[in-house]
Amino acid sequence: MQRIDHALLSPSLGSRKTVTSFHFGKPGSGPKVYIQASLHAEELPGMLVAYHLRPLLEAAEAAGQFCGEVVLVPVSNPIGLSQRLDHKPMGRFEIDTSENFNRHYPDFARAVLPVIEGQLGADANANVALVRKAMADHLAAWSAQTELQSLRKTLLELAHDADIVLDLHCDCEGVMHFYCEESCWPTLAPVAHFMGSRAILLAKDSGGGPIDECLSGVWWKLADTLTARGVSHPIPQACCSTTIELRGELDVNHAFASQDAQALFACLEHFGVVQTGHVPVVPAPLCQPTPLAGSETLRTVGAGVVTFAAEPGHALRIGDLVAEVIDPIENTVHQVRAGVDGVLYARIRDRYVTAGCELGKIAGAHAFRTGPLLGD
Ligand SMILES: [Zn+2]
Repeated sequence: MQRIDHALLSPSLGSRKTVTSFHFGKPGSGPKVYIQASLHAEELPGMLVAYHLRPLLEAAEAAGQFCGEVVLVPVSNPIGLSQRLDHKPMGRFEIDTSENFNRHYPDFARAVLPVIEGQLGADANANVALVRKAMADHLAAWSAQTELQSLRKTLLELAHDADIVLDLHCDCEGVMHFYCEESCWPTLAPVAHFMGSRAILLAKDSGGGPIDECLSGVWWKLADTLTARGVSHPIPQACCSTTIELRGELDVNHAFASQDAQALFACLEHFGVVQTGHVPVVPAPLCQPTPLAGSETLRTVGAGVVTFAAEPGHALRIGDLVAEVIDPIENTVHQVRAGVDGVLYARIRDRYVTAGCELGKIAGAHAFRTGPLLGD
């Protein structure tokens, strides 16, 4: 294992943060898997999973079982992790810019297309190498002006040439669920099933530029653009990436983290990155994938104290009561009911809401939303 500390751009005199990556196996010896945790810095289950995964990787490396490479970044957002306001963690948005830490990643397809267009050929592997080189050159030429930009650049430098990217997040309260782009799903379905996902949300370009779609989107966008131009050179989906939502923010315990780390290790065995002589059987799916555009976000119309009637993981039918929002001054109860059939895969953690607040999300099977599909 090699540890590398990457200094971020210093935002202020006397202050500098660091991203630390741990490298297992040998670059170029097989598939590369990139795993990062807690990009939204108050989402901590992934950090504990990384802690449990690391000894499994160290043991596999000591046993000579690596046939590829794993890069593990247990703390992918030291900026957000240090932000607190009124004694509360503030890890989702950079306080300076109000930018979401998992948005605004660059559109690699647009950046590299002019560079690679005249150099593509019939060899898919050569095309992948060409695109990755152009991505690396684009990153090298990117002069980060702020600490936040230097964080994005650092993470992309570590991840841009990975075959598989696993970005470990969680919801406020929730069951295990999984976001990925449609083009990655065939490759990543075993990951969802090893992790025991209870909802699987598929999209093609959710909007907003999250890091996982930045890394997977470049491939299908290039392929689509070239096909539309009548160019037939093969561009495979060379990076499959996903956001894995490890239940809720308070689901930080050794039992879950150990179980999840073992599931991730099984994924590495499945992909052949670690060869232990044992190829694990992919577990039976706990759910079918549904379109992210079919996910209903329940909102309250008025303010009040919230009581939930439905727990994360409950399968709901249209009209089922999900929550009551109670105004003890006017003595009113506003009932919030499911508008689609599906699993309530996430809900808020607070129990007081202001008008228009989000309450929870249901994985409906039929797409009905358009425009940007991710929350703030
Ligand atoms: Zn998140």
